[in-house]
Amino acid sequence: MDNSHNFETNAVRQQIESTHAQEHSTPMYLTSSFTYADAEEMRAAFAGEVEKNIYSRFSNPNTQELVDKLCAMEQAEAGYAFASGMAAVFSTFAALLSSGDHIISCRSIFGSTHTVLNKILPKWNISTTYVDIKDTDNWHRAVTPSSKLLYVETPTNPAVDLVDLKWLGDFAKKHGLILVVDNCFATPYLQKPITFGADLVIHSATKFIDGQGRVLGGITVGRKDLIEEIYAFSRSTGPAMSPFNAWVLSKSLETLAVRMDRHCENALKLSEYLERHKAVNWVRYPFLPSHPQHEIAKTQMSAGGGVVAFGIKGDIERGRRFLNNIKMCSLTANLGDSRTIVTHPSSTTHAKLSEEERLKVDISPELIRVSVGLEHVDDIIADIDQALTNS
Ligand SMILES: *Cc1c(COP(=O)(O)O)cnc(C)c1O
Repeated sequence: MDNSHNFETNAVRQQIESTHAQEHSTPMYLTSSFTYADAEEMRAAFAGEVEKNIYSRFSNPNTQELVDKLCAMEQAEAGYAFASGMAAVFSTFAALLSSGDHIISCRSIFGSTHTVLNKILPKWNISTTYVDIKDTDNWHRAVTPSSKLLYVETPTNPAVDLVDLKWLGDFAKKHGLILVVDNCFATPYLQKPITFGADLVIHSATKFIDGQGRVLGGITVGRKDLIEEIYAFSRSTGPAMSPFNAWVLSKSLETLAVRMDRHCENALKLSEYLERHKAVNWVRYPFLPSHPQHEIAKTQMSAGGGVVAFGIKGDIERGRRFLNNIKMCSLTANLGDSRTIVTHPSSTTHAKLSEEERLKVDISPELIRVSVGLEHVDDIIADIDQALTNS
């Protein structure tokens, strides 16, 4: 496939070859296996001497189109598509790490990733040290002779803090560590971690890549030698993405650039509005000059993304009342959807944790997270404004 064009063009034009029907739009390949003309062709396929599909747990034309497209967008050498973002996260760790290995991770990460690092990987004697990303000394102190992999999200969820990717890429190289970046919040349209030295990039395709809250998916892309290990692990253990989901997600990537432009435009306008609101203590958005890491944001992101965090004045009950007063926006756990989603983590998704535990993962009682959608920005602001006023 020709991926020599610009980002938007690759996203639209990168397709697998059409069939005898000469269809314009890629069809769905809903087949579990593929056939061969004779024993010799089958032998060569199984020996890996020719690039042929064998079985959809290994590869499928639809998943291959999606992977090739995302590789072009992330400037990656190779990739593999998974049934969900968490299948991508777990399989990447499981394929690359062995008993005794050590991971260094940023403190504020997606909840299920936290569970994998804290509860599942220790079963195989793989340990994790969490660092506060704002002080680079913390990274130096965390390195041990067993350290093998650095894992970060940027911007982080839900605090919208940033990791300096250029600095971390150099640090990983110096210590011989594999740098893995979860690029779910930024998408390759806004940020390409591989160009800053990341070895692998992980996506929950469920979020902005799908963009309409329809399907689950995950993808890991990056260095070919590492992807080969991930492929060998996944081909036998079975976390593969379904061809149907790959078909949906490949179509979704065609519109990623235009959707992200609007997500970012709406999110910036909402942040500027919230900064002036008297019921709001603080606003965190990478492209607001008041963001403490605004300078880093400008060097590694082309716009601020679709997620805004803000602190509502008052106690945890005020946050609950704010949610209860929301009329148009959705109260749901997802993000990256065309519909604006409002969450108050301390009274909902993270209510089971103690306040101290919540603060450890940067969730204060006042924190509200908004995944800003594609509705008209005036309607988004009007709904949030009336909910703030009435709370
Ligand atoms: C949602 C999410 C995941 C997990 O993806 P699923 O598709 O839900 O399995 C991982 N990382 C981040 C940052 C996410 O937001």
